[in-house]
Amino acid sequence: MIFTNPAGAPELACDECGCRWFDRMKNSCYECGAEVPPAAQAEYQQALLAFHRGKSRERSENGN
Ligand SMILES: [Zn+2]
Repeated sequence: MIFTNPAGAPELACDECGCRWFDRMKNSCYECGAEVPPAAQAEYQQALLAFHRGKSRERSENGN
């Protein structure tokens, strides 16, 4: 599952236990060992990209 942290950035959390800690080498949850499906990883990457795009747009609007 993907949720948004207080800073507004997307975070990937385990579908099984809701834990946010993943072993990136194995793509699995530290807590329960559940694998992160490729679809969820892709979704997270998209959310992250969208977040960073939004941030840079904000900066250029407010900046000089
Ligand atoms: Zn888990």
